[in-house]
Amino acid sequence: MLSRKPMVAGNWKMNGSLELVQNIASTIKSINNDDVEVVVIPPTVLLSNVVASGVKAGVQTVSEHPLGAYTGEVQASLVKALGATYTLVGHSERRSIYGESNEDVANKFEQAQTDKLIPILCVGETESEREQGQTENVVAAQIKAVIDKLGIASLNDSVIAYEPVWAIGTGKTASPEQAQAVHKFIRDLVSSYDAEISESLQILYGGSVNESNSELLFAQADIDGGLIGGASLKPEAFKIICESA
Ligand code: PEP
Repeated sequence: MLSRKPMVAGNWKMNGSLELVQNIASTIKSINNDDVEVVVIPPTVLLSNVVASGVKAGVQTVSEHPLGAYTGEVQASLVKALGATYTLVGHSERRSIYGESNEDVANKFEQAQTDKLIPILCVGETESEREQGQTENVVAAQIKAVIDKLGIASLNDSVIAYEPVWAIGTGKTASPEQAQAVHKFIRDLVSSYDAEISESLQILYGGSVNESNSELLFAQADIDGGLIGGASLKPEAFKIICESA
């Protein structure tokens, strides 16, 4: 009997508007699935609006520092105080555009948990890494960076999102079998440290999920829902995705 709660999180990236907050909030209220946990991850400036709309919220990144002279950064403690539940850490755009290393990501993961945010650790290989047969090594290194620094128990209060970089924003989704294979690899890896943590760990799939492919992806044994980019900006599509989880 599966004890993991399905979850769907919408990563708006640097998109969205005050109007979309209102539209998405009313659409989410009409979702016909009481089991799924739905989270909206808007640009941080819209966090309070999402919280005020009654929708569970997260942010896309936080600083690895608790506070101080880091112009432009946002501290996890303030994000928490404003009502966020989650933060992404290590999204592939943060890794590739802003140069975040596995070590930086582990530091952000730690700061998030220190301030009682639940980190959603994003992992995934590039197209060339997949072609070179490196998918498992890359994903394992991204996860082990957190386990080595913070211990396996840190995964208790976290979520992992497997997002193959070649599938993000490209319209090229991993097939349900390809995604399931990596999700199982991740669960087995975590299980090699602690079977109980592995069994309860929510592992989301992300990468061009839409209202037509979500059902088959979410039906896989080790896929516990999705991290949705583009389709989370379309309320009706997002609703169908949430209902399929
Ligand atoms: C993402 O940015 O996390 C993502 C999965 O984007 P998309 O759904 O647009 O591929």
